[in-house]
Amino acid sequence: MVLSPTQNGPSAPTEERIASVLAAVPRQILIDGRWRSAATDDKLTVTDPSTGRRLLDVADARASDGIAALTAATSAFPEWSRRSPRERSDLLRSAYELLLERDEDFALLIALEMGKPFREAQSEVEYAADFLRWFSEEAVRLHGRTGLNPAGTGRMSVTRYPVGPCFLVTPWNFPLAMATRKLAPALASGCTAVIKPAEATPLTTLLFASLLEEAGTPPGVVNVIVTSRPADVSEPIIRDPRLRKLSFTGSTGTGRRLMEQAAPGVLRLSMELGGNAPFLVFDDADLDAAVVGAMQAKFRNTGQACTAANRFFVQRGVAEGFVARIVAEVDRFSLGAGTDPNTDIGPLIDTRSVEKVDRLIRDAVACGAELMYGTGPVPGEGTFYSPTVLTEVPRTAAILREEIFGPVLPIVVFDEEAEAVELANDTEYGLAAYAFTTDLARGQRMVDSIEAGMIGINTGVISDAAAPFGGWKQSGLGREGGVEGIEEYTQLKYSLTSHH
Ligand code: NAD
Repeated sequence: MVLSPTQNGPSAPTEERIASVLAAVPRQILIDGRWRSAATDDKLTVTDPSTGRRLLDVADARASDGIAALTAATSAFPEWSRRSPRERSDLLRSAYELLLERDEDFALLIALEMGKPFREAQSEVEYAADFLRWFSEEAVRLHGRTGLNPAGTGRMSVTRYPVGPCFLVTPWNFPLAMATRKLAPALASGCTAVIKPAEATPLTTLLFASLLEEAGTPPGVVNVIVTSRPADVSEPIIRDPRLRKLSFTGSTGTGRRLMEQAAPGVLRLSMELGGNAPFLVFDDADLDAAVVGAMQAKFRNTGQACTAANRFFVQRGVAEGFVARIVAEVDRFSLGAGTDPNTDIGPLIDTRSVEKVDRLIRDAVACGAELMYGTGPVPGEGTFYSPTVLTEVPRTAAILREEIFGPVLPIVVFDEEAEAVELANDTEYGLAAYAFTTDLARGQRMVDSIEAGMIGINTGVISDAAAPFGGWKQSGLGREGGVEGIEEYTQLKYSLTSHH
């Protein structure tokens, strides 16, 4: 592992460049087309996890601001929902083009506030932009169906209508992509929105909201609330009868709490929650492809992805070779600031994350796991954790149960295919899964038998704006992306027109 990679590659951004990107970020909340102060003068300080340094202070909203934002979204809904699909499509297309023009600014901002390695931040911007393009295309293809009723006495028709004002709550690990994955289908279908980014990474959403304004979003259609008190601000919005839908991405624990708050109003819900993805490598796998896939599925975003491979199940025949190659790859990693274009492994989001990852590793080692690579928390500035490889991990270890959300690759060896499937499914989660095999029939058996909403066969990257993203079991409800993603923001109306 190499520390501070800048010495040998392209250089990190200058202070002037950083200052100019930060200067473009609005520092207030957005309600009804106006950037305004929050109800109190309190500020929320956003810091760079790579250095711990303060980036910006922004308005810190209270419950009354959240309700004002919902009022704006409610007032804007009738007019926005009546706009033509083509108009809504064109607006999203303009936003897509503007985002691509400013991709480097957004990538730098993500790298600054999240610590995401810059090259990956660039990929996130592309991925985020893809949702704008995809839903711009879907906006004009939101069809229903029609036909004769079975008795032949009338015409049945099924039409989709936008649900209404939506509350969109996003996590810190993909600050731009999670915003576009929700906002684009909401706007495409004719819904209005209040969006609340995570308190660690509000800057990207604030800058993106100003881009949406520039693209022509009418006042009140998108409102942004930033707060250090998400529970106090969210609950009154969720309990307000004017709200028609909650779309949440975050941890399963928070998701459950919000579902309880949503129950009295029987609110429409989309829940993208935690994951505990298995990664299976069979004896017949192409080992080169499996190693590349493992590095992507595990270390993307420094392991802080809901689709991150959390548990590696490797068949005995290839286990030794797989471990040796993984350790060699990890040893080549450059660990450094998110803004550094040479960084492979950035910081974790905060000290709590460092402590959690450390606890899981210590527990696994205490239970008998072997530490093949890794040196623990990295001393000095920022919340860095050394990439880690563990073998001989006992099947009951907490690290195989809990979402790690860090750069740790735990390996368990298995003998039989059925055993691998049983291990893979032994979790309350069911978001993503990965399997590597050159046997086509076995690949299909994995697709059919693994309990997950998404599975990659011979690939470590599966997310795509054109595909339905979402989980089985306690990983969530509903889908984002694909043709399914826009349907989540609509409700059906069936009508029967009698022939008589
Ligand atoms: P989190 O649940 O702590 O926070 C998510 C959002 O909920 C943030 O906006 C936060 O401000 C808000 N929030 C937190 N507590 C709240 C409360 N009591 N009331 C109302 N709102 C509250 O999750 P996180 O740490 O930001 O994100 C990491 C988690 O997100 C991981 O579990 C990860 O798997 C999950 N995630 C899931 C997906 C997916 O699509 N399934 C994608 C990315 C991240």
